[in-house]
Amino acid sequence: MTLKNRAYNFNAGPSALPLEVLEKAQQELVDFQNSGMSIMEMSHRSATFEEVHNGAIARLRKIYSIPENYEVLFLQGGASLQFTMIPMNFLQEGQTASYIQTGAWSEKAFKEAKFFGTPVEAASTKENNYKNIPTEFSFSADDAYVHLTSNNTIFGTQWKTFPETGEVPLIADMSSDILSKPVDVSNFGIIYAGAQKNLGPSGVTVVIIRKDLLEKANKNIPTMLKYTTHADNNSLYNTPPTFGIYMLGEVLKWVENEGGLAAIEARNEVKAKLIYDVIDNSNGFYTGHATPESRSLMNITFRVADEELEKQFLAEATAAGFIGLSGHRSVGGCRASTYNAVPVETCQALAEFMIEFQSSNQ
Ligand SMILES: *Cc1c(COP(=O)(O)O)cnc(C)c1O
Repeated sequence: MTLKNRAYNFNAGPSALPLEVLEKAQQELVDFQNSGMSIMEMSHRSATFEEVHNGAIARLRKIYSIPENYEVLFLQGGASLQFTMIPMNFLQEGQTASYIQTGAWSEKAFKEAKFFGTPVEAASTKENNYKNIPTEFSFSADDAYVHLTSNNTIFGTQWKTFPETGEVPLIADMSSDILSKPVDVSNFGIIYAGAQKNLGPSGVTVVIIRKDLLEKANKNIPTMLKYTTHADNNSLYNTPPTFGIYMLGEVLKWVENEGGLAAIEARNEVKAKLIYDVIDNSNGFYTGHATPESRSLMNITFRVADEELEKQFLAEATAAGFIGLSGHRSVGGCRASTYNAVPVETCQALAEFMIEFQSSNQ
């Protein structure tokens, strides 16, 4: 397989994985390290799997320089279960937590918190159809935590710098931009992410959690929904998603080989610019959904001049081999997800296609 045979994959999630990682997994699939079996067929308590598991944790720690006072957990249930686990563990009845509303995923997180305590909207850009990240928000020193979504997958906006929340733990859903740029983990109480955008296949959820929070967590909740259960057992309390964790480990090795997060970020900037430049130079033929200062490097949302042309654009793009360019059903329009594993060449091809489409339809 070469890049030539690979689809121009702009899927929003699950999404593109690095070709090198897929090929290594293919090579190792039937006989993992001369064990006579695949990684999926071996015990999660075996020394071989433990090495894979601990290796992935250690790599993530190294890539992000995660301080010692944080645990790295591999859970299941996706980012969506984190919407529930966070308030279940950390929000008491009658207590408040501030939620910064920047899109559909933030709204879902907010909704779950209502089952446990009193989530408060700290800011919302809903009136603006979530075109931007708010510049101001309020929170209280009594809040259990402040929650935000670092990248809004559906609307195509992204936080560029993160707010300071002092003693109140900041919790971030980084599902769609984890591993896309360097982040100072010590600013956060919890970072969580479903794997299927930048980390690997769906099925594993990464949680980076500060240890002092574990001590404060609600003890009177079911075993599997307690962070302490997973922290106390190195995420091996029950059978973990072994293949997903193996793949995550391989994606982390790939990130290291590519030069780490700073190099990945530089490439993501180049990729996004290729497409945003076409939008900005189109004299209004293409319009971006996000305001320029809030634009995401991961999900580029845009519309084509009119609805008929937009349909034609999407149909012709599909025929030309571009996958996943329809916007989310709740927003419409077009969206190009340019996650880490989407090559520069693929973004270049889309930029050229967009320019050509404009010149033949104006
Ligand atoms: C995809 C996504 C989710 C949902 O993740 P699941 O793993 O499907 O539960 C949550 N938040 C954000 C920001 C996402 O992009």
